[in-house]
Amino acid sequence: MAQSLNGKVVLITGASSGFGQETACLFARRGCKVVLAARRLDRLQDLAERIRSQGGEALAVPVDVGQREEIDLMVQTTLDVYGQIDILFNNAGFGRLDWLENLDPQRDIETQVAVNLTGLMLVTRAVLPHMLERRAGHIIHMSSGAGYIAAPLYSVYAATKFGVRAFTDALRREVAPFGVKVSGIYPGPAATEFGQHTGNNVLKRSFKAPAWTSLSAEAVARRVVRLAEHPRRAVILPWWFRPVLWADALSPALVDWFLRVAFVGRFHRPQP
Ligand code: NDP
Repeated sequence: MAQSLNGKVVLITGASSGFGQETACLFARRGCKVVLAARRLDRLQDLAERIRSQGGEALAVPVDVGQREEIDLMVQTTLDVYGQIDILFNNAGFGRLDWLENLDPQRDIETQVAVNLTGLMLVTRAVLPHMLERRAGHIIHMSSGAGYIAAPLYSVYAATKFGVRAFTDALRREVAPFGVKVSGIYPGPAATEFGQHTGNNVLKRSFKAPAWTSLSAEAVARRVVRLAEHPRRAVILPWWFRPVLWADALSPALVDWFLRVAFVGRFHRPQP
């Protein structure tokens, strides 16, 4: 049976653009009170205003998920205003994609791990005691198709998203007896601002992916809301990503060979 969303309090990190923004709009339309969190407060305030002008309820809260005190403040503010958190959509993240030797140790590696993995863990850690106490709640973690397949140029990003998958699976098993649900969502490439932050890598310079391979932010948001209504372990999308994951799981040597011949051997030119 579908869980009713009306009146639920939903905390969304990364709500200032892309998946987070679209998901906030859909949850608000379903009668949820949405708490919008990210660093760009002006964007969050505009979105909150838009939601309110359409009859919804929204609160904008600034947070850098790389800063533990800001996470604690975000969760406390949400609890002070609404008294509870029913759904956490832990979504904030970014990807810096390049050959490992080209990645900056601090900006591209440490910060990526701090935001995508440690930040996600700390947000969930801050919300969890409240859900355990109420014996209710649903935590949805944004991973990625890169949480299943580790492609060249994606080394650090994939490591964070594999980490999110492991964290999600372990936590789901830890808290299942206490009425708290934990799910992972694993989208393939999507048209959001994500691509503006990946850096100027060889893939970007040399390839233009066909439009049909790219999901829309709204399509992902619809799956997040459906996941909230029908909680399950994992959602992988789009459908054609599944055979790709199976190929990698069943025959990694074949995938290694293909990537070497078709991509890495042609484009990876380490500088001396
Ligand atoms: P966007 O760049 O559009 O959105 C990223 C969001 O994360 C923004 O709201 C941004 O807000 C927020 N964010 C980034 N860093 C921080 C931080 N330190 N603290 C708080 N918020 C932060 O990209 P998407 O919507 O595509 O990405 C959302 C999630 O989906 C990410 O985790 C990404 O890895 C994942 N994903 C994306 C895919 C894609 O192809 N687009 C595919 C699969 C997964 P602000 O800058 O205001 O802080």
